[in-house]
Amino acid sequence: MTAAPQRTCIGCRKVRPKAALVRLVRGADGRVQMDDGGRAEGRGAYVCPEPGCLGKALHAGRLGHAFKRPCEPPASGAAAILNGRVVNDKARR
Ligand SMILES: [Zn+2]
Repeated sequence: MTAAPQRTCIGCRKVRPKAALVRLVRGADGRVQMDDGGRAEGRGAYVCPEPGCLGKALHAGRLGHAFKRPCEPPASGAAAILNGRVVNDKARR
């Protein structure tokens, strides 16, 4: 067993390996975006790359709780995050 970092999905609240989750970051303007490379500064929140979890997670109230500040959901929405993740996974291989 390896001690891989674990994070809690803000959609379903399950603890999963960090690598299996999408990282979200809150910009200075309060707009939440997917942190594609996992390197953006600031507090991150994590969510499963699944429609059910993203649908729950990408609400202003849920994000505000996760980031402890008022947040705007990503303008692109859950579908774009899912699509982006699929594209990026392919590009890395
Ligand atoms: Zn989840």
